[in-house]
This record gives sequence, structure tokens and C-alpha cells, in this order.
Amino acid sequence: MAKQTATPNPNQTSANERLKQRDLNVLWHPCTQMKDHEHYPLIPIERGDGVWLQDFDGNRYIDAISSWWVNIFGHANPAINAALSNQADTLEHVIFAGFSHEPGIRLAERLVEITPPGLNRVFYGDNGSSAVEIALKMSFHFWKNSGRTKKTEFVNLANSYHGETLGALAVGDVPLYKETYEPLLLKPRTVASPDCFYRDQDETWESYSLRQFDHMKSELEQHHETIAAVVIEPLIQCAGHMRMYHPVYLTKLRELCTQLDVHLIADEIAVGFGRTGTMFGCEQADISPDFICVGKGLTAGYLPLSAVLTTDQMYDAFYDDYETLRAFLHSHSYTGNPLACAVGNATLDLFESLDTIENNKSLASVMSDSFAHLNDHPNVAEVRQTGMVLAVEMIADKQTRSPYPWQERRGLKVYMHGLENECLLRPLGNVVYIMPPYVISPEQIKHLAKIATEGIEIATK
Ligand code: PMP
Repeated sequence: MAKQTATPNPNQTSANERLKQRDLNVLWHPCTQMKDHEHYPLIPIERGDGVWLQDFDGNRYIDAISSWWVNIFGHANPAINAALSNQADTLEHVIFAGFSHEPGIRLAERLVEITPPGLNRVFYGDNGSSAVEIALKMSFHFWKNSGRTKKTEFVNLANSYHGETLGALAVGDVPLYKETYEPLLLKPRTVASPDCFYRDQDETWESYSLRQFDHMKSELEQHHETIAAVVIEPLIQCAGHMRMYHPVYLTKLRELCTQLDVHLIADEIAVGFGRTGTMFGCEQADISPDFICVGKGLTAGYLPLSAVLTTDQMYDAFYDDYETLRAFLHSHSYTGNPLACAVGNATLDLFESLDTIENNKSLASVMSDSFAHLNDHPNVAEVRQTGMVLAVEMIADKQTRSPYPWQERRGLKVYMHGLENECLLRPLGNVVYIMPPYVISPEQIKHLAKIATEGIEIATK
């Protein structure tokens, strides 16, 4: 295939176009079929301000998806900028083995405070996937250190997603990302999801999620001797098309895991920090997992940082004389980066000073009201919402619930319509969703709803 090299005449092309050409000459973007950019725009962003992103030609876009669910308090937030700049003047980074620093300690103390009870130990990673890898390795290693060497398997949910590195990819279940690499991956035991999209017409979320729990129950009852952990995204399977379920599933799962000596890994990388309406999704089920993985919103969309929190019991199983070789020797160069930790602390400060979780309740109800009319659309299967995440599922036939073939890429039409109307909406297949920064205004939410509705109209014609 011809390389996409080009030498545009700088006098004739826009600033966007010039950057796009330079980009396409050297870059390879994530989650992208690069050939798409022969037809679809690549948008270089010059600056951000609150919910707005602005390109080099002066066009602007509301970041309705928080730049892959990371941004919480808007772009170029003054309070976070100040914290970052202060930290950069003091200490940018230091090896985190044998050395430590105050922002990392303080952030860990605060994470212990705000996560569900019993999660008293913090191990930092530098992105979501690495947090999942850490939790999987720690769980397996705990059992090994405890003499339970048969516990080598993991259970996951159908339609789950936990990241893209090989271990994290293996415990996910979205074929689009996973299928190609199947020969390289460890094999989890995959159990039917509590995803309420498939409930009977008049069935409640609670009843359906409860019913689906039978699959998990029988899998764990049969195989708990060889299972190290169940890994799960609390309440929303985000990359799995924003499918949602009832907290009762987590409550039941916690009970069963405790009963059968299986760890529970809650992957709150996408849903943590208020996305589900509470600080963490686990709170709605009133449970403490054995591991909680956090990332993304931890630094409000500024810098890569993740953390795995676990229990004293887990920590104690590794704590021994060096010669016993029971230590957890996992490491990443940027573990606990001070800049990222300072930003994490500034993020938590904002949660407190802005009373974010409380204020989000009224934003969530504006989201709900603004999109409710789409329930009546002939090609919308449902509008679903959990807290600050709202999703609209487009469907070919509402009666039979048959989906549009993925090859038709209908979501892309919504994406394009969004770009033309100041919105960055990036549907997941046929699912249009918003997961905005918490500094969005009611008017901006209404604008997103209007443009999403028009986009859905165009896409379903
Ligand atoms: N777990 C979940 C639930 C996620 O949504 C994601 C990212 N979308 C990850 C893990 C991986 O995080 P990262 O992209 O930072 O590696």
C-alpha cells in the first residue's frame, strides 16, 4: 500500500491540514485503522478549556466522552495546572523503590480513605492495563505464597473489558480487540454477563442481574479450587458498549467469593471517581473487593497513573524475610510519578471543594431528561443511564431487537455529525453515549442531546 506521505503547499492548506499531513507521515494512532484517515478527519487540537477542545483552525468541540473517560474537571483546569506546575518546580520524578515522596504518600492515604473499607495498601501503576496486570499477578501470587498452588485461573464476564496488554486483554471479552491475539492469551473462565440489555420486556434490572448470577454461582461452585479471582467492571461494562447492570450482582458476588475463597478484583478504572453516581461503583452494592483497580479519572485526564488497592491480608502474605522470595517484585519505571500524584491530590481536592458527587446528581438528571425522548425513536432499543454515563443503543429492528450489522458503521455517521456541530461524540459501534467532564453545563448537555438526536436520525435513515 502506498505510504500516506505528502508535502502540502503551506500557503494553500489550513493549519489543521498541515498538521494532519505531518501526523500521517510519522504517526500510528491507537485503536485506529489508519486507512480510515483517507476519508475521515484527523483533528489536531491546539488547546483545551473546560469541556471545550479547539483545533488549529479555530473549530471547537465539547468533549462529551472526556477524552476516553479520563477528564473529570475540564481541560486546562487552573487548580490542577497550579498543582502540576508547583510539583514540577519541586520534584518531577524519583525512583519509587527505596525512595518515596510526599505527594505519593498523601495520595495513597487519601485513596485508602475514600475507597471501600479494608483496602489499606496502595500499589501504583502507570496506566489502567498495568493495574489490572498487577491485580491478577498479586492474586495468583497470594495463593502461591499461601500454599494454594492450584489456584491459577481467572473468571471474567462476557462482554467485559480490562485493557489491552496481554494479561488484561485475556481477561476481557470484546472480540474486536481480543480475537486476533487469542493464541497468545491465558484462558479465563467466561461467565454470562448480568448486562440488563437482554432482560425480558417487563423485567427489572435487579431481577435480571440476579437471574444471571446463577451462571457465576455454578461456575464458582464447580471450579473454586482452581480459581484465583473473579475480575469484574462494577455496574457498567464501558468498552462493551456501555452495557449496565444492577448492584445486586456485586453484592451476591462478594458473598460467594468470600464463601468459596476466591478473590474479587473490581476494575473501577473507567467507572471510578464518580462516573456511576457514587465515588466508586462498589459503594452501590455496599461491598469491599479484595482488589480495586483505579486509573483514568484518578488524575482527571492529566497524566497516566493507576493504583491497585488491596487488603492487609494480601499484603501480609508477601511480607517476609528477603530470602523467602515471597516479595511482589513487579515494577514500572514511572511507578508513583510525583507529578501524577500531585495532580491526583489536586483532583481529590476538587472533589471535596466542589462537592462533586452531590452536584453531579442534578447534572445526571439533566442528562436523563435531555435524552429521554429517544426512547420513542423507532431505531433506538433503549436509553440507559447509570450516574454520569448515558447511552443510546441504535437498533435495526425494535421489535425483534436485531442489531445493525457492524460493517455499516452507523456510529461513525453520528461521530461525523457531532464534529460538524461542536461535539466530540465517539460512539461504540451502534451505541451513542455521553460521559462528560463534570464541569459541563445543563445547556451543553442539552446541546449534546440535540446533536446526538440529529446524528441518530441521520445514521438510522
Ligand atoms: N479497565 C477498564 C474497565 C477500562 O475501561 C480500561 C480503558 N478503557 C482499562 C482497564 C485500561 O486502561 P488503560 O487504557 O489506561 O490501559
